[in-house]
Amino acid sequence: MASFVRLMPRLINFTYIFFELISLFRLCLFMSGCIVILKLANVPKISQSNMILSNIPVKQLMVKHVIGHEGVSISFSKEGIALNQVAKITQEIEKVIPPSWLYNAVISTKVFEQNGQHKFDECYITGKGFKIFLKSIDDNIILEWIQREKREIFKHKVNGNLRNSISKSLPMPMVHTIMQYMQKAGKSLHNIHNINVEYESSSQKGVMPKISLIDVKYKNGENNVIVQLGKKLYDPMKNYSYDDLVYLNKPVNARVSSSYGWRIHPVLKIKRMHRGIDYAAPLGTPIYASADGIVTRAFVCRGYGNYIELTHPTYNGKITTGYAHLTKLLLNKNQKIKKGELIGYSGNTGMTTAAHLHYEIKVDGKFVNPNSIKTFYKKMKNEELRAVKQHYNAYKCIK
Ligand SMILES: [Zn+2]
Repeated sequence: MASFVRLMPRLINFTYIFFELISLFRLCLFMSGCIVILKLANVPKISQSNMILSNIPVKQLMVKHVIGHEGVSISFSKEGIALNQVAKITQEIEKVIPPSWLYNAVISTKVFEQNGQHKFDECYITGKGFKIFLKSIDDNIILEWIQREKREIFKHKVNGNLRNSISKSLPMPMVHTIMQYMQKAGKSLHNIHNINVEYESSSQKGVMPKISLIDVKYKNGENNVIVQLGKKLYDPMKNYSYDDLVYLNKPVNARVSSSYGWRIHPVLKIKRMHRGIDYAAPLGTPIYASADGIVTRAFVCRGYGNYIELTHPTYNGKITTGYAHLTKLLLNKNQKIKKGELIGYSGNTGMTTAAHLHYEIKVDGKFVNPNSIKTFYKKMKNEELRAVKQHYNAYKCIK
């Protein structure tokens, strides 16, 4: 009784009741956790196909058909495969095969059927000159392998000089072509560890195999790949064509009167950074575009006067060239322009002491000394890039 009296004030203490409730709740949580664990432990091992939806029978089906004009994604969706899976399958195929190759190709697909729904498992696609195999692993669709007829890879460990080393195993015309491609792409011929050359062999006698890819590994671990497509050579890792090297032309035929760097400003008479080059071009001298591009700025301001900016997309960013103090604005924003086309005339609009051209270059928005940049690789067209990537991905799959 005495202890009960002593406990009374605590029992009516709300804080105490609150904590009691929490511990009760925790106990409940613990118990339910134990039940879940026990239940999991009782579950028998089930095969992957049964995992889709338990208790509902799963059938494995083989579906075979020919891809028509409608394309590969429609073909798969006609097989009753869910759209998100169709998108993944199509994406994986397009990494290595151009859509045009797929017309008339035969697809053999293995699907799981459950509740009238089809779940993709694996497929073979056999087309003219190629065969590919795709498989579903977890929730991803993986391109397992690709076979391409007549496509062979010469693998060679280089011993000393590249030319001498490959000459022992390849016909001379092929050796010449390899050396020519390496030089055109500006690749070093020294310290090469090994070389892979992918080529299309010809069934006709006396016809030289066509080299389609060169993969070179250097002793320092550097890797360079050259892809040959159409009449051009490409770098499939940096996404440019070695044939798309653009030289920036001098914008005007005049001598340099002030170079890039710190100087005393001719008008303001204070020390200031000169972010371009001045050409002493007399009033009215024609000014020409340094490279193909698009007009991204055409405006008048107090410092620059009449100003034109051209943007030249490169494989890894953009280069802009700026032309200031022009007599008037002849171009409009978003106008396309070709290298060497007239963009205006030398003038003295803006802050100048005499007519001249102020010429500046920015790389990704940052001013650079125009003398430090003479060339750049232009950006590839999307369809060109896709074809190069497909070729390279197919090679990676084969090798
Ligand atoms: Zn200037």
